[in-house]
Amino acid sequence: MTAATETRVVRTRDEVRHAVRDARMAGGTVALVPTMGYLHAGHLSLVDRARELADFVAMSIFVNPLQFAPTEDLARYPRDFDRDLEMARGRGVDLVFAPGVEEMYPGGEPQVSVVPAGTLTERMEGAIRPGHFRGVLTVVAKLFGIFTPDVAVFGQKDFQQAALIRRMALDLDLGVRVEVAPIVREPDGLAMSSRNVYLSPDERERALALSRGLEHGRALFAAGERDADALRAALREALDVPGVEAEYAEAANPLTLEPVAAAEPGTVLLVAARVGRTRLIDNAVLS
Ligand code: AMP
Repeated sequence: MTAATETRVVRTRDEVRHAVRDARMAGGTVALVPTMGYLHAGHLSLVDRARELADFVAMSIFVNPLQFAPTEDLARYPRDFDRDLEMARGRGVDLVFAPGVEEMYPGGEPQVSVVPAGTLTERMEGAIRPGHFRGVLTVVAKLFGIFTPDVAVFGQKDFQQAALIRRMALDLDLGVRVEVAPIVREPDGLAMSSRNVYLSPDERERALALSRGLEHGRALFAAGERDADALRAALREALDVPGVEAEYAEAANPLTLEPVAAAEPGTVLLVAARVGRTRLIDNAVLS
């Protein structure tokens, strides 16, 4: 039997719990790949990693309103469920959970949520998008509660998010192994993102400033540059092009996300910029 015929789609938390219980009764371990849909090869690489780590691979597709500020792109966030399902099927996903907002938040706005504090959330995305990580961590904690997965796979693309989720699992003893998979890029270097669809051809070209800056930073490091300010300046310079509005260019400790003075192997370079109306982020770990 091919995987293509087996993908089951469910809309309720109860159906998930039953499906997961059945998978476990059959002796299987369970992996979860949380997404907001509009899938691309980056998401599918997480599915492949999940398949290596567990017997039963589930994907959630849910555009989580709680992680969008009122000024952000919730309403226009791209959605194409039929296409997503086809891609998930093609990659052998066992279960797709695609709940409505009512199903995920039956009580409306949550009165209890996961609010991060400390160095991991103070800077970068946490500073620029107040409340964003509260939304992310709360929905991920809920998904962990619904699926009780053995492992959950996230992308390095959202480095700060992955670091926070890893710490949440540790700090709250959620019993889920958090796995982080590498960034999948377009052939020209642009990090894949559902939001890339917003870019006009002109903006798509300008968007390369992010990955080019990171490449430049990597090359400087490889050539012996250890001064983190010099690396930050190189990132800034790459982002200093017309039509690109830099938000941050950082060199940080990968565990605490605090700025470093001296770069070393493992130091992470992180950038964010607006290209037209589209906000893009990218990062690279130095080696
Ligand atoms: P999203 O649907 O954007 O919320 O992303 C769902 C998951 O896919 C997150 O763990 C992301 O970090 C991950 N992801 C998004 N883009 C990429 C990419 N280009 N490469 C690898 N993982 C990605």
